Amino acid sequence: MEELKELILRSSLEIKEELIRWRRHIHMYPELSGREFNTAEFVAEKLKNFGVDEVIENFAGSTAVVATVKGEKPGGCVALRADMDALPTEEKTGKPYASRIKGVMHSCGHDAHTAMLLGAAKVLCKLRKEFKGSVKLIFQPCEERHDCKGAQWLVEHGVLENPRVEAIFALHVYPELPTGYVGTRFGPMLASADVFKVVVKGKSTHASRPHQGIDPVLIAAQTVNTLHHVVSRYVDPLEPAVLTVGKIRGGFAENIIPDEVEFEGTVRTLSHQVRDRIPKQMEQAVKGIAAAYGGECEFEFQWGTPPLINDKETTAFAVEKMKELLGDERVVILEKPSMGGEDFSVYLKEVPGTFIRLGVRNEEKDTVYPLHNSRFDIDEDALPIGTAVEAYLAIAWLNRSPKLGK
Ligand SMILES: [Zn+2]
Ligand SMILES: [Zn+2]
Repeated sequence: MEELKELILRSSLEIKEELIRWRRHIHMYPELSGREFNTAEFVAEKLKNFGVDEVIENFAGSTAVVATVKGEKPGGCVALRADMDALPTEEKTGKPYASRIKGVMHSCGHDAHTAMLLGAAKVLCKLRKEFKGSVKLIFQPCEERHDCKGAQWLVEHGVLENPRVEAIFALHVYPELPTGYVGTRFGPMLASADVFKVVVKGKSTHASRPHQGIDPVLIAAQTVNTLHHVVSRYVDPLEPAVLTVGKIRGGFAENIIPDEVEFEGTVRTLSHQVRDRIPKQMEQAVKGIAAAYGGECEFEFQWGTPPLINDKETTAFAVEKMKELLGDERVVILEKPSMGGEDFSVYLKEVPGTFIRLGVRNEEKDTVYPLHNSRFDIDEDALPIGTAVEAYLAIAWLNRSPKLGK
């Protein structure tokens, strides 16, 4: 009898042409965060054709599509997540399937994530008798923008309930790994991404008579300087953290001390504890410096995505299962986390799970450009691999023996 992994690999390879077609269609018609209307419709229509057990469109009033595939016997529930949104980038790949929408591009590979999860849905529908319990498929909008809260919105509106999700997995294409390989790591994998804004208020006067005013340019300069010391003096040197001021604005002319200067920046960390402490230290520094010069300042800290921290048990499980499926040498434990952010972390705050990188690098096909680059593209040979990994992890998780914990 054909082993389950053989069956899944074969079933995924059989739909390779379809996977490519779906991916190219989504790639040609990319949609920005929160506006994934046509993509969601495309996804829902395919899911209905495959005969999944349930499809919820416009989940919680968003463009999310949430589907369930049930195995023949009752059991637990595992979730797989794909994101669907594109970025405001002008595509420069020159490929025949390049974006037809001006200024919008799938430069983060979410087109591939959506196509692969559709593939997994199709494979799971075919293999219902191979598993117990149910697989929840989450097609998530709005991963790329913090202001429209993709994962957060879905979690707040119960996407992980009814039935309660026990574990969750997601793939992200990764141009640093060759096609055929997957990678993950235990613990922190991606950073939190929070943003802050400071408005320094002084008192305008003539540049030649600074003593008659309060100079917000000087206060802002001192504040930016001091904020860089928050990481170097208040954070454990063994804990990674980044604080960057990326935008500053103020003043009108070289001979006027202005009323206000404002600046904005981002903070990234790899631990919940470090992240929680930083805003207080920042506020103290910002307000203290303004007061020392007789000025005032407004400090606003906006919580974005938390750090992405892979669960120990699900990650050990995923590594073992992916080795079974693809071979030991094809599964890489990534040495370093990245200071980029991913809102898959929001699910991981609620349920155990693992984020997995899928290799899409192929020098011959020129799929070597970084994520978010206008020349970014994937090696489509990776699509059936991703589908197989998702289907295999889901089925293996549901069929694991609870006594062994795997
Ligand atoms: Zn991205
Ligand atoms: Zn992405």
